[in-house]
Amino acid sequence: MSFSSLGLCPALVNAVCELAYTEPSPVQTAAIPAILAGRDTLVSAQTGSGKTAAFCLPILQSLIGKTPTSPRPVQTLILVPTRELAAQVGSTLRTLAQHLPQPVKLAVLFGGISINPQMLHLRGGADIVIATPGRLLDLIDQNALKLSAVNCLVLDEADRLLDLGFSDELNRILALLPSQRQNLFFSATISLEVETLAQNLLRDPVRIEIKSDEVSAPDITQRAIVVDANQRTQLLRHLIEHQKWSRVLVFVATKYAAELVAVKLRRAGLNAEPFHGDLSQGKRTQVLMDFKASRVRVVIATDVAARGIDISDLPVVVNYDLPRSSDDYTHRIGRTGRAGQSGVAVNFICADNANEAHFRLIEQRHHQKIIREIVVGFEPTKSATNAPPIVLDDNGGVKGKRPSKKDKLRALASAQNI
Ligand code: AMP
Repeated sequence: MSFSSLGLCPALVNAVCELAYTEPSPVQTAAIPAILAGRDTLVSAQTGSGKTAAFCLPILQSLIGKTPTSPRPVQTLILVPTRELAAQVGSTLRTLAQHLPQPVKLAVLFGGISINPQMLHLRGGADIVIATPGRLLDLIDQNALKLSAVNCLVLDEADRLLDLGFSDELNRILALLPSQRQNLFFSATISLEVETLAQNLLRDPVRIEIKSDEVSAPDITQRAIVVDANQRTQLLRHLIEHQKWSRVLVFVATKYAAELVAVKLRRAGLNAEPFHGDLSQGKRTQVLMDFKASRVRVVIATDVAARGIDISDLPVVVNYDLPRSSDDYTHRIGRTGRAGQSGVAVNFICADNANEAHFRLIEQRHHQKIIREIVVGFEPTKSATNAPPIVLDDNGGVKGKRPSKKDKLRALASAQNI
């Protein structure tokens, strides 16, 4: 299957070639023809499936040949739950649009930064607006833009938009849109709330469900290390140094923990930065840029980083604190093993935090069982599980036991610096 056989024009096919996308992903194969045909579409696809290009490509194609008027009326509105996702979708659109015969004007609108440059940018209108709901409404209230000409609405990560409590904002925005329009919903999971919204808004939608095993086979080795809660920072430092992790994203439960762990790692000489919702947008953007450019080795983040962030070369994700839900688990570990690379997801299980029962539930939801490990020098004072955990030496080998095939693979992975 090729991109051109999906009905995309040569300018867009050239753009995907330059991105080295050799063939469309399953979600792209299914969604692009439906969207090009003007159908409402409801897509359930996990993060990393290539869903962004699945809606960006047909949206850009729909703009070709339309003579721009002044001011440019907003034709496509893409609503996203987080600032980072807004920036990311904007950047994908910009890259894909570069060979189009006429320039496309994008406006990426999110809070946490001054509204004035966004108001200035909107003078003269925009073809495509990518926005978080709150800032979009602020700009509408200030008469900086109108939605009366929108002919395509995209809800990206619709489940997350609703989880984050954006339903009031969403209803206000929906009331401002023309009733004749194409609706595209993308959601990792079709929760009851998403289904209800879809039933109210979508007309005869094409339903596309991409199962996780169709998602370009993410190759993520999952590990669970039993450790005392107060030993986690030391263990993290030990693993980063001994397993030579070049770049690691660590998830914690609170903003305070993100700051604290980052300070402790910095004191130990590691280049670590916190990443959470209380940081200014400028600081968040800077941390991500430094992380991608390898100027920062460890980012300690709250779940604000669990969705949407695309760091193509991220070998390791650590759940220092376990996520609340199995969906959050999927999103967190999905930051690694992207774009065909392999990745490792390490979970710290604290007996003293009653993590074992919670992690077992996550395992059940994912239909898997992960071996409990103990790292020499970090043995927990309480046992988290009835089954004897496997004790690993510094090389990732099992102490006092012949290594299994899995252990050998793990040791190989750590030797290869994964
Ligand atoms: P997404 O699910 O949209 O966040 O995309 C996940 C990653 O897959 C991004 O790094 C995209 O650049 C990449 N990607 C999207 N489509 C393709 C494709 N057809 N072939 C290879 N990589 C892709």
